[in-house]
Amino acid sequence: MNYYSTSKQAPEATLEEAVVKGLAADKGLFMPRTIKPLPASFYVEMPNLTFQEIAYRVADAFFGEDVPAETLKQIVYDTLSFDVPLVPVTSNIYSLELFHGPTLAFKDVGGRFMARLLGYFIRKEGKKQVNVLVATSGDTGSAVANGFLGVEGIHVYVLYPKGKVSEIQEKQFTTLGLNITALEVDGTFDDCQALVKSAFMDSELNAHMQLTSANSINVARFLPQAFYYFYAYAQLQRLQPGVKPVVCVPSGNFGNITAGLFGKRMGLPIRRFIAANNRNDIFYQYLLSGNYNPRPSVATIANAMDVGNPSNFARVLDLYGESHDAIAAEVSGATYTDEQIAETMRQTWQSAHYLLDPHGACGFRALQEGLQPDEVGIFLETAHPAKFKDTVEAIIGEPVAIPEKLQAFMRGTKQSVSMSSLFADFKAYLLQQPS
Ligand SMILES: *Cc1c(COP(=O)(O)O)cnc(C)c1O
Repeated sequence: MNYYSTSKQAPEATLEEAVVKGLAADKGLFMPRTIKPLPASFYVEMPNLTFQEIAYRVADAFFGEDVPAETLKQIVYDTLSFDVPLVPVTSNIYSLELFHGPTLAFKDVGGRFMARLLGYFIRKEGKKQVNVLVATSGDTGSAVANGFLGVEGIHVYVLYPKGKVSEIQEKQFTTLGLNITALEVDGTFDDCQALVKSAFMDSELNAHMQLTSANSINVARFLPQAFYYFYAYAQLQRLQPGVKPVVCVPSGNFGNITAGLFGKRMGLPIRRFIAANNRNDIFYQYLLSGNYNPRPSVATIANAMDVGNPSNFARVLDLYGESHDAIAAEVSGATYTDEQIAETMRQTWQSAHYLLDPHGACGFRALQEGLQPDEVGIFLETAHPAKFKDTVEAIIGEPVAIPEKLQAFMRGTKQSVSMSSLFADFKAYLLQQPS
């Protein structure tokens, strides 16, 4: 299947080109030419299928034309080696726990899938090594690094701001070794991102080594996120047959919710969506006014959603033919301050004994406030609360147990390369690396 650019100024690309390049030549985002509906029989059968079986059917609709069936199945089954349970929190609100993967956050799904798909293309073409550059303020780096760990033909460079990520986050990408190199940059997250951008534009560097990015603009990272919307529906049918849920997604760059909107377009019976924001509420304001006004992000306790110009907004617009009315008919919004997020975490812990992380708390609250009495809601719990241990403990006033997976990272030894925030230094370093 071909992929077109949301900016419509670049030629269509194959899946392989879209995955290797990430962004179209006109700086638009790649969209699949067609979104294939799944047959009605699939939705009937779904409650009896496993997560992996369901995901493979969805993956086949997206990637089946470009990847042999056995290979695609292997990629899906390897990616989804952990469960995504639907857990009741109140009588009509369920949490879809997306945090049972290696780095305890939903980005594991896209990170692992993309690594395996790119690995397949490299093996098939006998390509030279591909080098993934990723700037991180914490969570993306760990999901990408762990997803790509040990994948042959790919080297990952994670750039992170020295002293500005938590110890737990840092350990998740500095202790891995093998094909993962952590670069500790003496600067801010914006400096890290600027280094990566300059590297992609530097012709000498690009002649020396094949560079690519692994952020949520990449189709191989964002489309696989559709899998768990289907599985959530299947689990709900086992509990409450015939119910069409309202699905609420804590959103930052809007990759996660866009994958859900694709699912609905494929026929998945979802009544409507809610995009929950923290104070960075550009999308919420767009829904109210019809005007999209990006602005610099502000820091919140749900920091993975601190985004001032959501990169996947272009995909949402494109999916609905640029119509504000069409978008607003299927998606509503919500926005919460840090105080409201903390209050929701505290109350839900006290009344339901369910521990929310700051991102999931936005989703839960938006359902509490936005569900009609006859509706059932599912929110995506995007990360394990222990990933934000200090914040969560300060809010609920109790210690938070650290899952064994995180403890294992904590026991590892940090290995990183110190780097200034000057592009000349970064470039000189990369030019010395094997390509
Ligand atoms: C990345 C992230 C989000 C936001 O997801 P988008 O796809 O960028 O909208 C929400 N919560 C957590 C924990 C995240 O890591």
